[in-house]
Amino acid sequence: MAQEGIRFNSRVVRGFIAFSRVVGVILLLSAFMTFAASLGWSDSESRLTWMMNVTPRLNSAWACLLSGGALLLRERSAALGVLLSCLVAILGGFELIGHVLIACDSGLARFWLGIDPASRMTELPSLSFLLLGVVGIAVVRGYVLWLREALVLVVLAIALAAWASWGLVLGGESANLLRRLPIATVILLLLQALAWMSAVPTTGLTRIAVADSLGGAFARRLILPSLLLPALLTFGLAVAQSRFAWSPSLLYALAAVLTGGAITALIVWVAFLLDRSERMRRVVSVLRVDADTDALTGLANRRALDAALAGVGRDGAMGGAALLMLDLDRFKSFNDSFGHQAGDEVLRETGMLLRAAVRPGDMVARYGGEEFAILLPGADAAAAQRVGQRVLEAFRTHHWPLRAVTISIGAAVAGPQDTTESLVQRADRALYASKQGGRDRITLGEAL
Ligand code: GH3
Ligand code: MG
Ligand code: MG
Repeated sequence: MAQEGIRFNSRVVRGFIAFSRVVGVILLLSAFMTFAASLGWSDSESRLTWMMNVTPRLNSAWACLLSGGALLLRERSAALGVLLSCLVAILGGFELIGHVLIACDSGLARFWLGIDPASRMTELPSLSFLLLGVVGIAVVRGYVLWLREALVLVVLAIALAAWASWGLVLGGESANLLRRLPIATVILLLLQALAWMSAVPTTGLTRIAVADSLGGAFARRLILPSLLLPALLTFGLAVAQSRFAWSPSLLYALAAVLTGGAITALIVWVAFLLDRSERMRRVVSVLRVDADTDALTGLANRRALDAALAGVGRDGAMGGAALLMLDLDRFKSFNDSFGHQAGDEVLRETGMLLRAAVRPGDMVARYGGEEFAILLPGADAAAAQRVGQRVLEAFRTHHWPLRAVTISIGAAVAGPQDTTESLVQRADRALYASKQGGRDRITLGEAL
C-alpha cells in the first residue's frame, strides 16, 4: 500500500475508516433522538435541551440523518453516497439562502419566515452542512482534493470556534456570537468533518496520519490534541471568567502560561523522539556495516560477497564479471612455526595487499580462514589475469618480516549461463589447479 512514496500502516487505515463508520452511526442515532423528542415519543427533549442549550432543530436532524447515511452507504453504493451528500448540501444551502434573504430584509424571505423556527437550522450549521454536503460528494467521487480539504477545514474552524466560545454560554453569558450553535451540533459537526477526512485516509491531509513512519506516529498522536487544545483552553478560561469572575489580567497570564507550556512540552517530546530515532538510525547503520565486514582484515565478509554475487546475477545472467578465489600457501605451517598471532598479522597484511591491487569498484572479501575472493564487475579473462598477476607480484615483492608468503589464485569469468554457485565452483577448481601446479600462480578456469 503506497502512494507518492508514503508507506501506509494498513491497521491504522482500517481504524480511520472504521471511525468514519462509527460517526455515521452516531449521526443516525442523534437524528432519531431528535425525531423521537419532537414527536413526543420520549422525554429526551429535556435532556437534549440541556445538552444543546437550545431545543434541537428538526432540519439539523434531517441533515445528520442524510450525512450519516452517506458515510455508512458510500462504500456499498457511490451513487447513493453522492445522492445523500447532495441532499445534505441542498438542505444546508436552502437554509443558508433563507438566512441571507432574511438578513437582507428581502421580500422573498417571506417563504422562510413562514417555516416553523423550531425546525430551521441556525446560520452556522446551515453553512457547515452545505460545505459538508459538497465534501461528501467530493470524497465519494474522489475529486477536487484541495477544495475538499479547504471546505473540511472551514467546518473544523467553525466547530472549534463555537466550542471555544461555548464556555461563555455555560457561564450564563447571553451576548455570545455563537450562542445559537448548540454544543451537541458543534460536536456532531466536528465529528462529521473528521469522519469525511478519515473516510479516505490515504488521500489529502489525512495521509500523513496513516503513514507507517515516525511522521505518521507524530501526526496520529498530535493532530487531535493540537486541534482541540486551544478550544478546550478558551472554553476553560471562559468558564473561569463567567463563573468565578477571574480578572482579565489573570486570564491572559494563565492563557499565556498554558499555551506556552503546551507548545514547549510538545517540542520537548518531539525533540526526545527525534533524538532517539536518530540514535537508533546510527546504531542500525553501524550494525549494518559490522554485519558485512570481517573483523580481522576490515574486508567485506562472506555474507557481503554472497550479496554482491547475487546482485551481479540478478537478471539470471552472471555475464560481465570475473571472480578470483585466493588461498594463502602453506599457511598451516606458517601458523605452526610462528604462532597464530603472527598468522593473523599475515592475514591483515594480505587484506591490505589485495585492496591495493584492485580498483575502487571491485570487491575484496575474506571468504573464510585464509581464503579470499575478489569480484571484478565488468571484467573479462584478460582483466582477471592482469589483476591476478598484480596480486602475485605484490606478494612476491612485499617485505614479509618472518617468512616469504605466497598465494595461489583461481579465476573464472562469468558466462551468460552461470549461476553464483557455478561461478564459485569453477574459480575453486581453478584454485585447486594452481595448488596442484606448484602454488604461487594463477589459473584461469575454462569458460562456460
Ligand atoms: P595450502 O597451500 O594447500 O592452502 O596449505 P594450507 O596450510 O594453507 O592449507 P590448510 O587448509 O591445510 O590450512 C589452512 C590454515 O589456515 C589452517 C589454519 O590454522 C589457518 N587459519 C585459518 N583461519 C585462520 C585465522 O583466522 N588466523 C590464523 N592465524 N590462521 C588461520
Ligand atoms: Mg585453505
Ligand atoms: Mg592455504
